Amino acid sequence: MSAQTWVENVTADSAFGVHNLPYGVFSAPDRPDERRIGVAIGEYVLDVGAAARAAGAPSMLLDARSLNPLMARGRAAWSATRAAISSWLVDPAHRPAVEPHLTPVSEVSLHLPFDPADYVDFYSSEHHAKNLGSMFRPDAEALTPNWKHLPIGYHGRSGSLIVSGTEVVRPTGQRKAPHDAAPTFGPCRRLDFEAEVGFVVGTSSRLGEPVALADFAEHVFGVCLVNDWSARDIQAWEYVPLGPFLGKSFATSVSPWIVPLDALAHARVRPPTRDVEPLPYLDDRDTEPWGLDLALEVQVNGQVMSRPPFAGMYWTAAQQLAHLTSNGGRLRTGDLFASGTVSGPERDTVGSLIEYSWNGEQPFKLADGGERAFLEDGDVVTIGATAPGPGGARVGFGEVSGRVVAART
Ligand code: MN
Repeated sequence: MSAQTWVENVTADSAFGVHNLPYGVFSAPDRPDERRIGVAIGEYVLDVGAAARAAGAPSMLLDARSLNPLMARGRAAWSATRAAISSWLVDPAHRPAVEPHLTPVSEVSLHLPFDPADYVDFYSSEHHAKNLGSMFRPDAEALTPNWKHLPIGYHGRSGSLIVSGTEVVRPTGQRKAPHDAAPTFGPCRRLDFEAEVGFVVGTSSRLGEPVALADFAEHVFGVCLVNDWSARDIQAWEYVPLGPFLGKSFATSVSPWIVPLDALAHARVRPPTRDVEPLPYLDDRDTEPWGLDLALEVQVNGQVMSRPPFAGMYWTAAQQLAHLTSNGGRLRTGDLFASGTVSGPERDTVGSLIEYSWNGEQPFKLADGGERAFLEDGDVVTIGATAPGPGGARVGFGEVSGRVVAART
């Protein structure tokens, strides 16, 4: 059972209770340049830099505009900081000094909580890979021969990472359907989303030195939600032979709260049995593997479309990190790597519209009578998630949300 906090309306089983304490960056809505690190507790955000000073604790890592200085410091500092914040919110003796630094979340603006370095996106749901493979390459095997030997991924565009709530401008590009004689240029006609889970790198690594499976928790600071917006028509025409490019790099939305890895101790599960023996650097069978039992929920215009189960992902984040660095490529503080679309086996567990609508043939039906094979301007996509916490509590991730607006052409 987790400890109880003195903060009002927070119970032991609150999704944002003291067992969670996700980090974000906030400001007053009218002062977006005056950013502060905050920790979510119930319906409040705690200004942790100010709270540290009020509690007489070292505040340097928390008096920052982004999480990067804290993230760079490493696991011992993360654990000590988390323990300190928890004690301020649990011990009634701290209440008089700390309480003035709580603000209702509804009264602040939330920003991208870390300065992004590199961004990588994986492709680690077997159901998603089979679904997309059979749609994009109907005459070939759905899974490529490498898929069960390595976590497939690509390097994305970190400059296009945006915080939840930021509008997504419909991308423009080259489109060519299989039976078109030639490509045309214009607004994307098959705009989609991908519900994913993101892993934020805190501690860097040295060039030339791979990060072993067992060192995952030394490098990964926390976990967030990601929407990998995808222009399926641009993607289908451009992706052979070098993979995703402009069909993905126009916008990637990130949730404002980074859930510390330490808050997910109760969510760890064994991933599905692999039917191909992994090479030694990816072999997690003799370790406590990093499967995570996150329950996602995808809404389109406020209506639930699907509930993708993250526990079914074939490759874990630890395997993804080991593979990502297996060639000696280095990690930097602020790197983000995303899981790939989280899709389960049933239609109401898939993480993208192209899968739900089966390439546009069976649209998602909206309660207002409308239907969506792909997204229209004005549509809002919201992805939320929770995970098991201590004593039956849930760990909340909040949500990543974005509204599509018309192309600017
Ligand atoms: Mn993706």
